[in-house]
Amino acid sequence: MIYDLHVHINPHADEGEIYEYELYAKMRNPKFIGFVIHYAPTMPERVLKDFRDIVSTFTIKSYTGVEIYYPAKKVPRGFDYYLYHFSNIIVDADIIRELENVIIAHPFSYGMRIDESAISIIEKRSIAVELNSAHFKQKLRKFYERLKASNILIPFGSDAHSPLEIASGFEDFSDLLSPPEDVERFLR
Ligand SMILES: [Zn+2]
Ligand SMILES: [Zn+2]
Repeated sequence: MIYDLHVHINPHADEGEIYEYELYAKMRNPKFIGFVIHYAPTMPERVLKDFRDIVSTFTIKSYTGVEIYYPAKKVPRGFDYYLYHFSNIIVDADIIRELENVIIAHPFSYGMRIDESAISIIEKRSIAVELNSAHFKQKLRKFYERLKASNILIPFGSDAHSPLEIASGFEDFSDLLSPPEDVERFLR
């Protein structure tokens, strides 16, 4: 069964668009959908609340997450999960040691690399590594096969920025992705 943990939704989109998110999500008949918002420390609490309120009206099984730009001065509380977006950085063991129970979003995109030293720490700190269909490249297959062999959680994310993109590409990676039950157990 499909799922998607990386669907962007703008809490200030018009009602029609919000309705379409729910409609298209339903059409894919997913186990669950995780909706996310880009987080900035200057963001008013109100925006986060509006976002959660919208998602709570959906009749499909939904989770709410935030996508945090690393390094983060502040991390908002009360979300089901936290995606970390890195750019122009080599993520090594020291960086991974600062984190726990988070998901690394779209690895090897935006000039980010994961250093060899980080892999065993990722395993120990209960960190998941997203497989993002919008950013996937064939040469990453080996990397994911290795994560899978180390029992590292690999949740799926489409990085949808429109309703039609929800869960797109999921089927192409079913051999690498963690099953929805394992992903749900990881969420808070
Ligand atoms: Zn991102
Ligand atoms: Zn994103």
